[in-house]
Amino acid sequence: MALNEPDDPTAKYGDLKAEITDISRQRAPNEACGFIIKAGKEARVIETPNTSATPKQTFRIAPEDFERAEDAGKIAVVWHSHYNQRPDPSMGDKVMSERCKLPFLIVSVPNGEFAYYEPNGYEAPLLERPFVHGVLDCFSAFRDYYKRVLNIDLPEFEREDDWWKKGGNLYLKNYKKGNFKLFNKDDVPIQKHDGLLMAIRSEVVNHIAVYLGDGVIYHHLQGRLSEEVPYVIDRGYYPKQTRHVVRHASLCSSTSDSMDGSEKSTGDGGGST
Ligand SMILES: [Zn+2]
Repeated sequence: MALNEPDDPTAKYGDLKAEITDISRQRAPNEACGFIIKAGKEARVIETPNTSATPKQTFRIAPEDFERAEDAGKIAVVWHSHYNQRPDPSMGDKVMSERCKLPFLIVSVPNGEFAYYEPNGYEAPLLERPFVHGVLDCFSAFRDYYKRVLNIDLPEFEREDDWWKKGGNLYLKNYKKGNFKLFNKDDVPIQKHDGLLMAIRSEVVNHIAVYLGDGVIYHHLQGRLSEEVPYVIDRGYYPKQTRHVVRHASLCSSTSDSMDGSEKSTGDGGGST
């Protein structure tokens, strides 16, 4: 949406846009982010820390900063900046906007061009998503697959970048909340729709893929586009990294041999807050 058009939905934020542009130029090349808050008739700009581990490519607002902003007034807009690229919302921006049900205002710096995105029911395609931790990552791919292919709703978990390096064990801690049963990799033949828990350059399992059957998985690795890749038992990288299989209770024919009773999940905190 070009500026200065009569129907420009950002026109009402005139002065605030200048303030957002100033802040964003100061933070460049990192992305800046924050809110436009309304309290009574007053609207004002709040900047929040960008807690993304890759702040030049993406932004992340910590849940506590969201809560603080909600305490300060009504959140009208979430804003952030793009450096040396168009202000148009990325796939991750659209997904975030849909998830928090708030419009996004994006400024491109240094030139100060704006774009505006309003939630409209957008859903990211399963394949060829860019990686944005906590937004478009391996768990998002798994969760979206379960919703779209199986119509099974899985809980969402707030997760920091690299939670597995900070004492987190998100998958083993939370699989039961998603109504999954956990198996050691070699204890069951894998079947279609199973989740394969892998340890990718990590001590703990930090990655999940969906088994699609016929020797193919769907997954989203950090730094890559989401994809379908071959998975042949006992051969190649991904089978070697696989530690556990998780199977949704609705897809289990028998419950006798799961590890549910043995409390294998360890570790606290980190990923889910
Ligand atoms: Zn963006």
